[in-house]
Amino acid sequence: MSDEKNKTKMLKEQLFMSAKKGISTVSAEEIKKSDEFCEGYKEFLDNSPVEREAVSYSLKLAEENGFVEFERDKQYKAGDKVYLINRDKAIALAVIGKNKTKNGVRLSIAHIDSPRVDLKPNPLYEDNNLAYFKTHYYGGIKKYQWTVMPLALHGTVVKLDGTRVNIKVGVDESEPCFCITDLLPHLAREQSSKKLGQAIEGENLNVLVGSRPLDTEDEESELVKLNIMKILNDKYGITEGDFLSAELCLVPAQKSRDVGFDRGLIGGYGHDDKVCAYPALMAAIDTEIPEDTCITYLTDKEETGSDGNTGMQSDFLRYFVYDLAKSDGEEGYRVLSKSKCLSADVNAAFDPIYASAYEAKNSSYINQGVIISKYTGHGGKYDTSDASAEYMGEIRSMLEKNKVMWQVGELGKVDIGGGGTIAKFVANMNVDVVDLGVPVLSMHAPFELISKIDVYEAYRAFYAFYNNM
Ligand code: MN
Ligand code: MN
Repeated sequence: MSDEKNKTKMLKEQLFMSAKKGISTVSAEEIKKSDEFCEGYKEFLDNSPVEREAVSYSLKLAEENGFVEFERDKQYKAGDKVYLINRDKAIALAVIGKNKTKNGVRLSIAHIDSPRVDLKPNPLYEDNNLAYFKTHYYGGIKKYQWTVMPLALHGTVVKLDGTRVNIKVGVDESEPCFCITDLLPHLAREQSSKKLGQAIEGENLNVLVGSRPLDTEDEESELVKLNIMKILNDKYGITEGDFLSAELCLVPAQKSRDVGFDRGLIGGYGHDDKVCAYPALMAAIDTEIPEDTCITYLTDKEETGSDGNTGMQSDFLRYFVYDLAKSDGEEGYRVLSKSKCLSADVNAAFDPIYASAYEAKNSSYINQGVIISKYTGHGGKYDTSDASAEYMGEIRSMLEKNKVMWQVGELGKVDIGGGGTIAKFVANMNVDVVDLGVPVLSMHAPFELISKIDVYEAYRAFYAFYNNM
């Protein structure tokens, strides 16, 4: 009887997928390495709240590590490192491989835009002696989460004469910050009875930016607004019309920090998707001479559908690959057709407090490593690239071979919601692609949470993809 039992147990062990043990299988040394890696990540995150800043910080790291600007029609050799920037909002970094582009390229693509609150083109107004900015939120936010917290203003203004002014206010504690007010509970009986998504209206996400009138004897209206405009003019040389040619964003003012007594997690703004962008960037930096050319692409506009000339639907990356191919004497479309891609994006980590939104057997978990999402989209597998069995097999064996901690998951229960990534746009270029990234708690909130070990495993996955597939 006991022999039978053992046989059954053995059969189980042989045929069933073993339960993932996650971080408990990771050595103390690996955990230390991941903690160290994440110190660099926190710096990156804090310096990259909006895409332009993410590009300049990535460029700084790349240039410090031997990347030079790509020159069309130049011949490159194995080990050369080049970058190409798209309108200051996206950056491609290539490490030339021994095979150049002959066998296709390896692509890791993450996005560096995150949900936030953008200023409208004509934002500044005064109401009851208070000055406000009108806004239009960017990406999928729960609007109530963005009220009553310190916000910082980041962005770029282009003046009529073409000069560009970069603005960053509210990051340093010595600087002022900004805030969207909310109604006090005493008077919120009606608001509190509304549905969560309707309690704060998008049109009411107005940001308080001033309260003192211009010091003058003259009997004029809008003196608070005038005072704000004067402060902005003194500091940046801009006038009200310059808001029309500007990209100004409000993002959480707070910096990232460790979360939990054990410091296992990082809380911060914009993990989606800087938590994949940084590991993919570091994998490019640490790759010396790969077999095939490796390209890390950090793109913009994912949060609003990847439209526009800096989003993944633009031809920028395609043209970059074509240019690389041309200098190797290859056809660009043939190179793309042989290429492989990791769409480096986050997925929702299982949250025990909201367990009913998830399907436990097909969810990703904090501290269980990178998550592979075979498909994203929504009900009935709409709006997604569904990675092939063959490509899933390749990636799975790569991760096993390199002992990367990994898991597979879907975004929540069937029909409960959904979301997309850039994978489907890459697939349209006839490239094999699957999503691989880091699980996130409270995704799209002003303070998202991720696990340090998962970030490090993402780095190891991208490095393996470039160097040891
Ligand atoms: Mn994302
Ligand atoms: Mn997102």
